[in-house]
Amino acid sequence: MAKRTVDELDGKRKREEAREARDEVRRELDATMARFATLELACSEPGSAPAALLDSRLRAVALESARRGLGVACGKDDTAPGTCPDCGGRTRLSRREKAAVETVVGAVRVEMARRACRECGRSSRPRERLLDIRGSMTLATRRLASVAGSEACHERADELVRELAGLNLGAKRIERTTRAVGADLEARRKAALEPAAAGSPAPALPERKSLKEGQTLCCALDGTGVPARPSETVGRAGKDGERAVTREAKVGALRVSERDGGGRPRTVPGSVVLFAAVESAAETPGGESEFERRLLRELAAAGHAPEDVGFAVGDGAGWVRRLFDDWFPKSERVVDYYHAAEHLWAAARARHGPGDLAAAWARKLCGMLKAGRVDDVLAELRQRGAGLPECERVAAYVAERRDRMRYDDYVRRGLPIGSGRVEAACKTVVGRRMKCTGMRWTVAGANPVLWLRCARLGGWFDDYWNDRLAA
Ligand SMILES: [Zn+2]
Repeated sequence: MAKRTVDELDGKRKREEAREARDEVRRELDATMARFATLELACSEPGSAPAALLDSRLRAVALESARRGLGVACGKDDTAPGTCPDCGGRTRLSRREKAAVETVVGAVRVEMARRACRECGRSSRPRERLLDIRGSMTLATRRLASVAGSEACHERADELVRELAGLNLGAKRIERTTRAVGADLEARRKAALEPAAAGSPAPALPERKSLKEGQTLCCALDGTGVPARPSETVGRAGKDGERAVTREAKVGALRVSERDGGGRPRTVPGSVVLFAAVESAAETPGGESEFERRLLRELAAAGHAPEDVGFAVGDGAGWVRRLFDDWFPKSERVVDYYHAAEHLWAAARARHGPGDLAAAWARKLCGMLKAGRVDDVLAELRQRGAGLPECERVAAYVAERRDRMRYDDYVRRGLPIGSGRVEAACKTVVGRRMKCTGMRWTVAGANPVLWLRCARLGGWFDDYWNDRLAA
């Protein structure tokens, strides 16, 4: 009973303090707005304040406002009793420390209380936790840094941030922040969709979406190489038996397809989900591989179950076929037309070398394939390419997958014959960020960046930050 009374008093005092702090910030803001108004007035007079002056004044006012706001928020720690974030014990004020906080308008110097735990002895700055300041950066600054870091190499991202926002964060900090945000995005995605441990209850999944008449859920999978550090390719063979210089990023795209008024397939707006990672998709006895789990997780996040997938398209690689056969056995499983065409072009070049003859034959073969004349393609390859290993390889490739190459039929039914979406995703998610000159990745460094890019392209990056703000 007595305990509750103490807690109640405690709660009341905290609420009062919070109200006081809010009032103070509001007064500061009012003062700032008044200064803005004065500034505006000064600039509206003819021949006054050149543009450069206006900008630097605006920044100065914003910085001053941030400094005061943070100062107020950080100065409230001295008397308030606190609990240790590690053990829950009572804490005492150990000292006040000067700290620089990077806000979106610039670095602000503040004083923050460091409190030490009476029980476990660990110390922390409670205001950092409360204001969600990490690595001396506010939430908005971390967002800005991670966006830049997801778009360009860290050195370039640092330049961009300096140029566009006037912040000096440094490449290392941008790299760390990008990684941390990507890892947190992934951890939260997992926590929202998977049981914490084997046997523990599963979280409530998003509501299952139903597909409308004429709509098809499509899944496309593909792989693409990410240049890797030598330490990441130990024991992995690359092309021609040499040691591998890349690791394969596996990329997936989910989308709902329907027909437009003219009967052509189109993607339902807002239905695209992208996912990518350098991880295993190998058959795992008694469980699922990492990438397999990712695929199932993203299906669930989109509000679908594996049996909803009606159309599965991939490059014909072994892991793609296995995932399709295991999870979408009732779907139309298709070898991406453009991958198949690449093989035909390779055969034509092996037969005729580079030039018009090869191009003419390749076009003829592609035309036949698209028209559903697989027998004719095979006959041509075996006749004209007789004795050539590349032509024999391509013939075997086509023969083995012929039931997944009925392109005439798919076109007639309004189904897409190419994994255009995932091809584009390979380029946008992986290629543009991961394959720049001189880049060499570790798997641990690449995956958070890939995931961050998927979140941005998939449109749920904003949700993440809004959730953080709400918390
Ligand atoms: Zn403690």
